[in-house]
Amino acid sequence: MNPVSHLLTGWVVANTADLTTRDRVLVTLAGVVPDIDGLGVVVEILTEHTSSPLLWYSRYHHVLCHNLGFGILLAVTVALLAVRRWMTTFLALVVFHLHLLGDLVGSRGPDDYQWPIPYLSPFSDRWKLIWTGQWELNAWPNLLITTLLLAATISIAWKKGRS
Ligand SMILES: [Zn+2]
Repeated sequence: MNPVSHLLTGWVVANTADLTTRDRVLVTLAGVVPDIDGLGVVVEILTEHTSSPLLWYSRYHHVLCHNLGFGILLAVTVALLAVRRWMTTFLALVVFHLHLLGDLVGSRGPDDYQWPIPYLSPFSDRWKLIWTGQWELNAWPNLLITTLLLAATISIAWKKGRS
């Protein structure tokens, strides 16, 4: 699933509880921050035609930050920064796992690669999650989900004055 959908998911979930602005930002960012392990795409593109290409995207996307170890690190960070610690940390973990679920169901690449999620990493190599029904990143279910999230975001802005 694309980062915009993850961001909107975080924002919508963050508005399900009575949180401060800071806590809503933390929950929202928790929904998208696992994709920082995809920033290696810049380095990979810049070096792909060199004698020593750096395959940081191919090797590390869905590996470094899409796992339980990163989820724990994220939860501790949110707990340290949040005002309403327990609720904010709980919702951050919810959106983190919704991120993993979204990637699991809707992130197949044009080359049919399914980006397995090593959920128990770095504690274990077991549970590399793949769903055989996974749809492509630009498939209609992702567009529908993103449209619904956008509608929910507009509704929140209308009713609560937050955007
Ligand atoms: Zn992701």
